[in-house]
Amino acid sequence: MMGTKQRHFAPLITTSLEDLVPQDHFYRHLERTLDLSFVRQFVQETYAGIGRPSIDPVVFFKLQLVMFFEGIRSERQLMRQAADRLSVLWYIGYDLGEPLPDHSSLTRIRERYGVEVFRRFFDAIVEQCQQEKLVWGKELYFDSTQVNANADLDSLMPRFAVEAREAMQAHLATLFAQEDTQHEQQDAAADCADMPGGEATATQALASSVPPPLPVPRSPAEHEELAQDNAARHDWIAEQGRPEREVRGYYQRTSDLRISTTDPDATPMRLKGGGTHLGYHTHYVVDGGKRRIILAVLVTPGEVMDNHPMLDLLWHTCFRWHLWPEQVTADSLYGTGENLKAIEEAHIRAYIPIAERGQYNMGYYGLAQFSYDASQDLYHCPQGQVLRPAYRMEGTQEIQYRADAAICNACPVKAQCTESPRGRHVHRSFFADYVERVKGYQQTPAYQKALNKRKVWVEPLFAEAKDWHGLRRFRLRLLRRVNCEALCIATGQNLKRLLQKRGWGRRPFPSETVIGVPSTNWEEEDSFKRVKENPQRRRIGVALMDALSLIRMFFRYPKSPFSQPILVHMLSPSLTWCLVHTPSRHWCSFSLKRTPWHLETLTSLVNSATGFFNRLNGLLN
Ligand code: SF4
Repeated sequence: MMGTKQRHFAPLITTSLEDLVPQDHFYRHLERTLDLSFVRQFVQETYAGIGRPSIDPVVFFKLQLVMFFEGIRSERQLMRQAADRLSVLWYIGYDLGEPLPDHSSLTRIRERYGVEVFRRFFDAIVEQCQQEKLVWGKELYFDSTQVNANADLDSLMPRFAVEAREAMQAHLATLFAQEDTQHEQQDAAADCADMPGGEATATQALASSVPPPLPVPRSPAEHEELAQDNAARHDWIAEQGRPEREVRGYYQRTSDLRISTTDPDATPMRLKGGGTHLGYHTHYVVDGGKRRIILAVLVTPGEVMDNHPMLDLLWHTCFRWHLWPEQVTADSLYGTGENLKAIEEAHIRAYIPIAERGQYNMGYYGLAQFSYDASQDLYHCPQGQVLRPAYRMEGTQEIQYRADAAICNACPVKAQCTESPRGRHVHRSFFADYVERVKGYQQTPAYQKALNKRKVWVEPLFAEAKDWHGLRRFRLRLLRRVNCEALCIATGQNLKRLLQKRGWGRRPFPSETVIGVPSTNWEEEDSFKRVKENPQRRRIGVALMDALSLIRMFFRYPKSPFSQPILVHMLSPSLTWCLVHTPSRHWCSFSLKRTPWHLETLTSLVNSATGFFNRLNGLLN
């Protein structure tokens, strides 16, 4: 008779998550090591004093960390994982059967917090790294990487049409905002009335806090001038990486005319491997210390050149973390005159390559072949002719020096100098003195060392973020959201270093081997060093582990009688190899005076082998 399976699950009445989650689980270590209660202080201002209690902010940030460590790319998927995983439930503090937050609540909370709260969270982890002395601060490394946006090039539309639609939507939102506010107030009052015992006691909203003025002696006129300068300056971090689109200069970019309807902040960028995609630049400032802590993160649209936010990131890093580096290292894209001047005037060495520009790139004489006479403000060419100042170019912040066209046209080496019938010209930057000073560093060993170090310091961090944590393509859209995403990833990367420092280092063996867990300072044990130095012992160790794993398999899956002879067949070469190739002095090394994990290994081996042969006897009889 065909049976029908009835689905019935008896309730678990004597089980606790405390018992179900292994004691050495990663999330137990994370909970023990990192107290996230500080986040409540950061987000206090984003909650009203009355209403229903929200999801605990600590739970929200724990879920963000789970998302990072598990490589999850959506809130919906995250909550599905949380519902299935006992360890995640334990970490976020939800019991079996307790209803979890809805995934849409996480999205709303992220929107409510904004970039500022995520930046504070990132800063709090860096602060803990600094307290653990993981930040060196003597060297800073700058770099950026291209990250694809979650939008396609086909979504590009004329900018004026999209902006007009957004303006209309903003106008409608303003019109109906008053009505929505009234509804919310009515709902909140109803919620308060429902709550027993006055749990939702109204608290006073925090007064808007104006930062106290710094005790710096300045006259009112100086204050006014400083305030005007600050108002005129584009602060990249305060603007969350948004460029000044009004300042167009002489060059119109594609993003000035076209905009993506899917992700309006993403702009077209040429990929290094070829092709074009909508995307962003993620900028990292990395400490030169051994742990490579990320000190600042900023995402800008793909159209923003690397050099633009550099100074804001540098000053932010210096003042936020009380650092004054001796050197700053970056690639040639950062080597603009303003950057070099600002860095050098702050008595920091700019180890930045200077790219040769102009006709040098076409195989003609470069600027190095022309000598500058500072006393007369003119250049001498290789033929001894004079190039005088001709134009002052404010756009590129350069002065053009030009030779006499008639002399150049009659010059015997003109073919190596220029093809122009108007004579040769060269450009001198307004900041040429600083450029010359930075070029002078290029011959020093410290400069070479810094540039070599940069390649293995920042770029592997980007590779780690892209290959392991989803930075190859943002899952979110809009600049403020991708900034939150990048900050979460960088926070997780720093957290990995912090956990490593606090005791969660690499494990010496795969967790599934039966070998005993060694002590935390296992690398310093003499016995392990001797094993490492002796390849024969290493081979014996591997053969032993192989044999023991097979014995475990035998006990775990004794379902088919045919599997047992197969296992015996697989097991015998390893054990035979051990017996034949292990001289007596090696067996002596596994004596009881050795470290405990050798003892555990030997005990496991004896127990497993005894059980195995008993079982085999039973099978044969
Ligand atoms: S082409 Fe003019 S600038 Fe160049 S080497 Fe000859 S004279 Fe000098």
